[in-house]
Amino acid sequence: MTGPAPADAALAGTIEREADRRRTVAVIAHPDAGKSTLTESLTLAASAIDEAGAVKGKATRRATVSDWMEIERSRGISISSAVVQLDAAGTLINVVDTPGHADFSEDTYRALAAVDCAVMLIDAAKGMEAQTIRLFEVCRTRDIPVIAVVNKWDRPGREALDLLDELEERTGRVPTPVTWPVGEAGDLQGLVDTTTETLTTYESTGGGHLPVATVRSGAEAAERFGSAWATALEEVELTREVRGLPDQDDFHARVSMPVFFGVATKHLGTVDLLRFLRDTAPPALPRRTEDGAPRPVTEPFAAQVFKVQANMDPAHHDQVAFVRICSGRFDRGMMLTHAQSGRRFNTKHALSVFGRERDTVDVAWPGDVVGLVNATMLHPGDTLYSDEAVEFEPLPRFAPEMFATVAPTDPSTAKKFRKGMQQLAGEGVVQLLESERRTAQAPMVGVIGSLQLEVLTSRLQAEFGTAVRVEPLPWTMVRLVTDSDLALLERRRDLEIVTTDRDRYGLFRDQWHLNSVMRELKGLELPTPV
Ligand code: GDP
Repeated sequence: MTGPAPADAALAGTIEREADRRRTVAVIAHPDAGKSTLTESLTLAASAIDEAGAVKGKATRRATVSDWMEIERSRGISISSAVVQLDAAGTLINVVDTPGHADFSEDTYRALAAVDCAVMLIDAAKGMEAQTIRLFEVCRTRDIPVIAVVNKWDRPGREALDLLDELEERTGRVPTPVTWPVGEAGDLQGLVDTTTETLTTYESTGGGHLPVATVRSGAEAAERFGSAWATALEEVELTREVRGLPDQDDFHARVSMPVFFGVATKHLGTVDLLRFLRDTAPPALPRRTEDGAPRPVTEPFAAQVFKVQANMDPAHHDQVAFVRICSGRFDRGMMLTHAQSGRRFNTKHALSVFGRERDTVDVAWPGDVVGLVNATMLHPGDTLYSDEAVEFEPLPRFAPEMFATVAPTDPSTAKKFRKGMQQLAGEGVVQLLESERRTAQAPMVGVIGSLQLEVLTSRLQAEFGTAVRVEPLPWTMVRLVTDSDLALLERRRDLEIVTTDRDRYGLFRDQWHLNSVMRELKGLELPTPV
């Protein structure tokens, strides 16, 4: 056997290096925990950090972060999973946006399919809130290592040890603090590095700049901060005894979860987090293909679509498919094959960082996210490849949590309506549900957030010329229905049974209603992401 041609070997080497210097992460948080603020703060820190990880002199002017939110909100449509690429002295950190707020939807989950690591942001006063817990569950099913960041330590909040207990209880991962606050929430004096036991204090230099950080020895810290320092050290020792120090292997193996503390609005703790992302977070990792086997990043080009966004540019009415590059080198203009249809696809129109600016991207590497314009045949989960056929494992799907029927207000638009529903369901805007009680004139849809219904309505109107009436249904609880449950459940008129192309669900009004059914049928199970 002969080895690879020298040119191929050189390319493989380059791909490996490029994959190795990329981090693709998502910040997951309950609305208002400070996700946008932290992303901006990370951008600022990245522009200021040098190769040794030190903050460079003064060149720390606030960088502009692409902010889809404003644009999308002003247009009343959903926020897209955009990505911001930060260059931290040669390490490229792709921060994939996970749309939150009222817009919480399947897109939020899908964004997690594109990353190798997640930063879970927590409000110091609130701990792990509902959406954080749900997003963490997705990280668990996707085997994603998670870093926890406790934010808003400038405000009164809970005790740090208490927050660690909660993290451990809720996630099952061992929280290992990398930094620790001196002073309780609302009275932050500085941050301890739990490994070196040095203290960093901060001096603000005004909005839009990083604070000046000073590293002090334990002796100096003891002198300056007396009992607050002593308390912090005791707490650090206590948690270290129980949980150990942060460990990269355990973090990557999802056994432990590094923890940071900070104040995103004042950029306190952000540089530590950025350094950790750069030095310790996983690089662009091999992605699993359909058969479960990881595909090495040095294989020929292949990428997976994780989001499709229509009409991103109102002037052009186009559709952009966001793909995560999984292997190989991307060159704009290369011809690709769409695995699901077998059709060829030209990548002449490829975009890089999204936001107000649409930059053309010429070359990209594993871990990067590229937007492909007018890719109307692409759906979330689809694969594009350059050489031999490959398909990545499907994106997780979630049981819907809200239900409605949708019908055209003008019956003469029924044909356009059906076409629109098929296309938008294919894009993953909503899930179409089959139910014996519903008709083709007023089909049933399921969503995770109500914004999905708004997007559906506005797009049916704008793109398919059909105005619709959306009637919410009363169901709030969902359980999986097995074949053996079916006979019994079908006899009941007070619940509804629906099917998707993968699952069958029973829908219940509320917990009380579900309990009443469970008295007869104990084994009904919660659907989990698949
Ligand atoms: P998102 O909804 O998670 O993106 O949260 P935002 O970044 O929009 O922040 C929500 C609110 O919390 C804003 O008013 C921020 O200024 C504020 N905020 C974010 N981080 C901090 C922090 O560390 N301390 C304080 N006091 N407020 C913060």
